[in-house]
Amino acid sequence: MGSSLPRVVRTRAELRAALAAAPRPVGLVPTMGALHEGHASLIRRAASQNETVVVTIFVNPLQFNEKSDFEKYPRDEAADLRLAGAAGASLVWIPTVEDVYPAGFQTSVRVSGLTEPLEGAARPGHFEGVTTIVAILLGLAGAERAYFGQKDAQQLLVVRRMAGDLGIGTEIVACPIVREPDGLALSSRNVRLTPEQRAAAPVLRRALLAARARFESGERDGDLLRGAMSELLAVEPLAAPEYVSCADPGTLAELTTVGGPALLSMAVRFGAVRLIDNEPLP
Ligand code: AMP
Repeated sequence: MGSSLPRVVRTRAELRAALAAAPRPVGLVPTMGALHEGHASLIRRAASQNETVVVTIFVNPLQFNEKSDFEKYPRDEAADLRLAGAAGASLVWIPTVEDVYPAGFQTSVRVSGLTEPLEGAARPGHFEGVTTIVAILLGLAGAERAYFGQKDAQQLLVVRRMAGDLGIGTEIVACPIVREPDGLALSSRNVRLTPEQRAAAPVLRRALLAARARFESGERDGDLLRGAMSELLAVEPLAAPEYVSCADPGTLAELTTVGGPALLSMAVRFGAVRLIDNEPLP
C-alpha cells in the first residue's frame, strides 16, 4: 500500500491521456469525496485486483433532489487525496461541473422499474442523475472493473442493470458495508449529525438486526419483519423513518412472505440529515 499522493487530473482530456498510458487492468472507484474508511475499503479492493486505480471525486448536482443537501455536502480535497493515496489510488479525477457536463450536454440515462421504489420514490430524479454520471464515468475510464458499496444497495442493482443493458464491458464489483464500532454505517453525511443525533443514529443498525433476529427465529411474514424494524425506530424520538422495506433482492418488490433471499432496508431522517442502511437475508 503506497502512501504517496496520487496524480490529479481535472479535464476529460487529461483523464483520457493519463489512462491511455496507464498499466492495465484499470479499476474505477466513483465517489463524491469526503472520503472515509468505506471509500478506502473500495479503493483497497480495487488496488488488490488492478494495476491502476482511478478514484473519481465529483459531487454530482444531477443526483441531488434537495438543493441544501448538495450545498452542504462536505468537501475536503486535500484530505481526500491523502486517504485515496494511502489506500492505493494511482490517479484521481476531480472534474468541474463543466468538465463533466460541457455546454450543450443533453443526454440522460434512465433505468426504469428498479429505480421506482425505495430511494427512487423518496428522491425523485436521483437515480437518473446517478446512472447518467456513472455511464459517463464508465465510458470515459473504459475500466476493466468498477467498485460500488453494498451500503447503496439499490444503486448497485441499478448500475449493474444499466451496465448489462447498455453492453458496457466493465465488471461491477460489490463491496461490503463498513461500519463504526457502534454499528452506524460510515457515510459522508454522518459529520452533519449533532452529537445527540449521532448518539441516536445506530438505531438503524439495531432495527435491521432486530428484524434479522426475527427472521432467524423463523418469522417469514414481510409485514411482521417490516413491523419489527418500525417498532425499534419508533423508540428513538430523534429518528424520523421515511421507509422500511423487506423486498426481493433482485426486483426490490416488497415481499408478503420471505421464501428466499431478501433485502431489509430503510431510510431515516435525523433533522436535515437523511441516513440509509440495509441488511441482506439470509
Ligand atoms: P459516495 O461518495 O457516498 O457516493 O459513495 C461512493 C461509493 O462508496 C459508493 O459506491 C458507496 O456505496 C460506497 N460507500 C459509501 N459508504 C460506504 C460504507 N460505509 N461502506 C462501504 N461502501 C461505502
